[in-house]
Amino acid sequence: MKKLIDPMGRHINYLRVSLIKRCNLRCGYCYGPEMTHRESEDQLSLPDTLRLIKTFASLGITKVRFTGGEPLLRREIVDLVHQTSLLSGISMIGLTTNGLLLEPKLPSLINAGLNRLNISLDTLDRTVFRKVTGVNGFDRVYSAITTAEQSGAFDCIKINTVVMRNINDHEIHRFALWALERKIDLRLIEFMPTRGSGWGQDLFVSEDEIRNQIGLMLEPLPVNNNSPGPARTYTLPGAPGRISFISAISRNFCHKCNRLRLTSDGVLLGCLFLNKGIDLKPVLAGNRGNHEIARVIRHILTAPGLRRMPEETSILRANPFMRMVGG
Ligand code: SAM
Repeated sequence: MKKLIDPMGRHINYLRVSLIKRCNLRCGYCYGPEMTHRESEDQLSLPDTLRLIKTFASLGITKVRFTGGEPLLRREIVDLVHQTSLLSGISMIGLTTNGLLLEPKLPSLINAGLNRLNISLDTLDRTVFRKVTGVNGFDRVYSAITTAEQSGAFDCIKINTVVMRNINDHEIHRFALWALERKIDLRLIEFMPTRGSGWGQDLFVSEDEIRNQIGLMLEPLPVNNNSPGPARTYTLPGAPGRISFISAISRNFCHKCNRLRLTSDGVLLGCLFLNKGIDLKPVLAGNRGNHEIARVIRHILTAPGLRRMPEETSILRANPFMRMVGG
């Protein structure tokens, strides 16, 4: 089995694929400016996306996550999940969604082979939801979460929650109890300074402060059960749920980075915080073999300035809009 390992010894086995730039929510900290062109003009086709995923799999990628924009706005999503599940070497297929369109699509996604599900939800309060997202959609998302739990198809559904001061930080304790009582992994994410996010120290809440507000005696999940990703996961004895922290600002985790990102227009990114990547479209268009595509993909590991080094601790601001990269 091949392995992708970068010069810092980081083992890359995970590809995040952003399928679309559009989203059906307008979260102020994420969306950025409205799009001015038709997206289909530069979007990778389904066959090209699959061809790339297949090449990544041949290089040692075992996990694929579809994200966006909002990936459920992409009509071919079920087919894409299905075709990916047929690729040799891919054992995990995940989806990161805002959940608004999830409930009716869930049975076909599960049948197609989806086996990991992350739903983004920043609040348990309908009014706050509307304020944050610009859409009156809390009930639909909440209902999708319940249906996903009841489906039994996922080991533990993950809820992504970005914590922001004076927006949802007052809910942290209640949110944690809610997750711990259910079989949910609540991932409390430090607000990151992505482009157009309005990030500022006044909105930022650190992991230490979040932990204080939770105020429970959480215990770290044993290391061998913990994923190699950025989240550090905790349990409360006797409770079915879990609490995870993703703290890019207060606890740099670049040394653990196991992932690459593909944007919906075919740019391969080596780091969420760098906006320079490698455009794979010319290689796809040039009728070149998969061998050549693999060579270009491998180049991202060694080319200077395309993957952030573990020792770089400064907070970077020059990065793509989160909507383009997908988190
Ligand atoms: N539309 C999908 C969703 O809502 O899950 C996928 C795309 S969204 C960009 C992926 C994740 O990025 C979401 O959980 C969102 O909350 C998170 N995110 C966006 N901007 C962020 C920021 N500035 N800091 C931290 N997380 C952010």
